Amino acid sequence: MNMKALFSAAVLLALLSPCRSLVHAAEFPVIRWEGRTMGSPYTVQIVGTNLTSEQVDALKAEVEQQLKEVNRQMSHYQPDSELSQFNRAAAGKPFKVSPEFAHVVRFSLEMARRSDGAFDPTLAPVVNLWGFGEKTEQRAVPPEAELKAALAVTGWKHLSVTPDDELIKDIPGLTINLSAVAKGFGVDEMIKVLRGHGLTNVYASIAGEVRALGCNPRGTKWQVGISAPVAHWRENDPMAAVASLSNQALSTSGDYQKFFTDAQGRRLSHIIDPRTGWPIQNNIGGVSTVASDNMTADALATTLFVMGPVEGMKFVESWTNAAALFIVRAGEDQFQHLPSSRFSAMTGFNP
Ligand code: ADP
Ligand code: MG
Repeated sequence: MNMKALFSAAVLLALLSPCRSLVHAAEFPVIRWEGRTMGSPYTVQIVGTNLTSEQVDALKAEVEQQLKEVNRQMSHYQPDSELSQFNRAAAGKPFKVSPEFAHVVRFSLEMARRSDGAFDPTLAPVVNLWGFGEKTEQRAVPPEAELKAALAVTGWKHLSVTPDDELIKDIPGLTINLSAVAKGFGVDEMIKVLRGHGLTNVYASIAGEVRALGCNPRGTKWQVGISAPVAHWRENDPMAAVASLSNQALSTSGDYQKFFTDAQGRRLSHIIDPRTGWPIQNNIGGVSTVASDNMTADALATTLFVMGPVEGMKFVESWTNAAALFIVRAGEDQFQHLPSSRFSAMTGFNP
């Protein structure tokens, strides 16, 4: 049966149910489901429709198919993904990829250019060396020579995309890692599917990447918590801040989930300074970004983390459609909140 026809009733209901009129929540049950993708949990919530269980199953299958497609293109865990094949490919030869993959690489290269290389989608060898790639069991400070060798095969300027969606590396051994942007893109793809069925009050997330349209079950903006980057972070710790979102995406990059501590007690996390190959050591515990799409929010959060609060703040102010909250360590589990000028207006955050 035609999916469009299947959802026409839902579309009509959604159109009749703008935020304000969602007071009869019982008549418009919330549909929620969870799953896993990209090694992380994902969530979907849909408000203000009365989809049947068959329709929900069909929608879920379509969302999961879309996520599988993103993984088939961009996963570095799947040896046969387009990304993994490109990573094994020779230098100098154009390598044809899907339009979506080419789009994410183009965007990543643009972020690299604009951030003067703070964001770099070619850091895979260095990320892997520190134990933050596919193999996570060996997290240790690598020998200097190995780090140098890994850095020698990185550099976003060695990667290009042709107008025909072909990737080209100009040095052998160059590889792509889209971990800092692919989850955000995945959320955008989920939203595209949901929106394609006329659903207007929806929430989708993969790990800490969130995008929300319309309103929540209470008929207000979606409330999304931002974690405090405490030293011994646990999933249900109290929130540092809450962002109210509607037709926006929120992303957080931090050093409190993926890190190890070295012999000198330094916190070494998975976000790498492309110039030195070392984990970033600044006073940011976490940085959250808001943008209209999740790919931008995701890449921007990683970029701001690398740049640090001073340079990062200047950088985010140059984005007219984005904002950030830097959560800076001011002592053991004590934090200072540094919002960019648009953050409060975009999220309702009250410093
Ligand atoms: P998460 O993966 O937890 O959502 P991020 O979006 O900040 O966090 O992405 C961090 C990941 O991106 C790292 O695990 C690593 O694979 C990769 N990465 C590390 N440093 C950089 C960087 N400077 N630019 C781009 N990607 C990076
Ligand atoms: Mg990111």
